[in-house]
Amino acid sequence: MTDDCGLRPGDSVESLKGVGAVRSRQLGAAGIHTVGDLLFHLPLRWEDRRRSVSVGGIEETGSAVAVRGRVTGMVSRRARRRGLTILEAVFEDPTGQMPVIWFNPRGVEKRLSQAETVVLFGVPKSAPRGGLQMVNPEVEVVDDSDQWVGTLASVYPTLGSIGGPFLRKLIRSALPALENLPDPLPEAVPRSLGLPDLNTALQSLHRPAPDIDDRGVAALVRRRSPAHLRLAFDELLAFSLGLAQRRGQRRLEPGPLCEVDDAIRRRATSMLPFQLTSAQRRVLKEIVADLEAGPPMARLVQGDVGSGKTVVAAMAMLIALENGCQVVMMAPTELLAKQHRAGLERLFQETPWTPELLSGSVGTVQRRKILAGLADATCPFVVGTHALIQDAVDLANLGLVVIDEQHRFGTVQRQALVGKGVSPHLLVMTATPIPRSLALTLYGDLDLSVIDEMPPGRQPVRTEIRDDGAREKLYRFLRSEVGNGGRIFVVYPLIEASESVDARAVNEYLEEMERALPGLRVEVLHGRMDPGDRDAVLQGFRSGDVQVILATTVIEVGIDVPEATVMVIESAERFGLSQLHQLRGRVGRGMRQSWCVVMVGEGASETAKRRLARFADTPDGFALAEADLEMRGPGELTGYRQWGPSHFRFADLLIHHDIVVRARAIARELSENGQLPIVAEALSRYHQTEFEIPAG
Ligand code: ADP
Ligand code: MG
Repeated sequence: MTDDCGLRPGDSVESLKGVGAVRSRQLGAAGIHTVGDLLFHLPLRWEDRRRSVSVGGIEETGSAVAVRGRVTGMVSRRARRRGLTILEAVFEDPTGQMPVIWFNPRGVEKRLSQAETVVLFGVPKSAPRGGLQMVNPEVEVVDDSDQWVGTLASVYPTLGSIGGPFLRKLIRSALPALENLPDPLPEAVPRSLGLPDLNTALQSLHRPAPDIDDRGVAALVRRRSPAHLRLAFDELLAFSLGLAQRRGQRRLEPGPLCEVDDAIRRRATSMLPFQLTSAQRRVLKEIVADLEAGPPMARLVQGDVGSGKTVVAAMAMLIALENGCQVVMMAPTELLAKQHRAGLERLFQETPWTPELLSGSVGTVQRRKILAGLADATCPFVVGTHALIQDAVDLANLGLVVIDEQHRFGTVQRQALVGKGVSPHLLVMTATPIPRSLALTLYGDLDLSVIDEMPPGRQPVRTEIRDDGAREKLYRFLRSEVGNGGRIFVVYPLIEASESVDARAVNEYLEEMERALPGLRVEVLHGRMDPGDRDAVLQGFRSGDVQVILATTVIEVGIDVPEATVMVIESAERFGLSQLHQLRGRVGRGMRQSWCVVMVGEGASETAKRRLARFADTPDGFALAEADLEMRGPGELTGYRQWGPSHFRFADLLIHHDIVVRARAIARELSENGQLPIVAEALSRYHQTEFEIPAG
């Protein structure tokens, strides 16, 4: 029988001791209104106080220890430096004494003066007068009912103006409410996965069992304890169910009617300058089936850089246009939008359709003309940037939305464009090498097609790792490549601050390049340049007037220049693996052997070097993503966070990637057996079900 403490998760925080109007307001400002909110405020880490030591046996090892005893002889004084208070005291236990000092000890004095027995937790250091002392140790007042000591102590992240130690006390007093916290999942679900029920999970995070062993502690630290897995699972399940619901709703609406007849097939074949690869054909078939099916298409085409996604999308555009639909393609940058427009114009030259461009750089008169054409359906075909989702854009008859480089847009932006029509077909393309399992979950409201084959004749890019010692040799190689008709990208990890690029650094690099490559024309390309200048540089690079482009990562996305044969990446250790792979994809797009030269900076760590070696050995973006999941470690994750909602509260796609897959499977089961709405509703009490997948 459970003894009902009366405290319920829905109760206001004010029902807890020590919380009055002021605290309640402070907690409210941090989003904590109820006892239940507190229960879901998880510890950031745990201090291992299982091994408390005695003062007599204390050693200076540099790590924190817990000592248990009494504090005597407190003296508080103000230092000459304004505002600094120093509290000195002596700590003692039956084995000895040790001086303790606190600087600006907020409330410590009061707590110590009321306490009989305390636990201090801190790092013992040598005192100026010999022996050991502790500076600013954490104080835990011990009373008889306290089993807190000798186990793990939860350490909470500060909430606004509320400190961790106070939160610990507060949350401890909220724990009895766990008895009244309903589990949102049918019992069988967590059991089948070997996961604990919700209140056991929360209990063991806030207050790990006193007999927890080293393995248990390690799992907590790695956020892989059963409790962590349970919370991550619930959150990912809520997310998956939300997507499934969205998908289900969309499929109830009729999409624009599209049919593919022989005339369209003939036109498609005559448009294509090459034969589609079998992967492209397979994906196109999937798209055609969607377009003809009835409900609006919602499909993600995933394919490595250079796999030929655009031409497949162009076929979808042709079908939609032939069926009288308006077609809109959105790309993340001006550069890319223009490149797509030019490419599509070429592809569609024998057809009645010419794509228009709508982007920031289009002049007012032209812009007005296009907007009018879109609004009265006389303009059926437009390629553009974010400019397309502005309010002024009114689409009379939107039938197909194509979004390139999906990871650069958030779902909100995607929806904004789709919302300009009545259930249009949606095709999104991404080169982000997300492992398939993750893609299926994160983009669970989309169907997935994968182009897993490169167009014929491509030679794999050869990746070489070099350091500064090889610089002169590198320059010789670059000169000879250009001599043989190649063109070169050199990428620097310059931060593109919101306003400006570090102009001095750019000039230094430029001068160095010009010195190293006499007679060659080197131009700078970065995101903050005037679009006209940027176009001119790229145009020159395409035509061969410019042989070397010195760039920031603006060139990462989609630029297609088949003559480019060398990609030099400076300080490559500063880039994420997926970013490196995108950069490498800028070369090797023609028939000639291409190279990616990875320059490692002097400060690169051993881990970073191993990671780069893996990059050099792994030509395939998907394999690379899988490899990264395996060898991931702190500090190596940049570039992959873009995989998912950054604001999962409990789940981390890298730490919990196996859970991602399970949540997806269970979501599917629940929707098949009709339990989806009930479970989604129950989970929504604790977890968000609508997420914005942020732009990378
Ligand atoms: P992605 O967008 O997937 O990175 P693109 O669509 O830009 O790739 O295609 C890369 C290059 O390959 C383009 O120059 C394109 O014309 C060419 N290409 C695409 N498909 C084929 C094919 N089946 N055969 C030959 N070349 C192709
Ligand atoms: Mg592309």
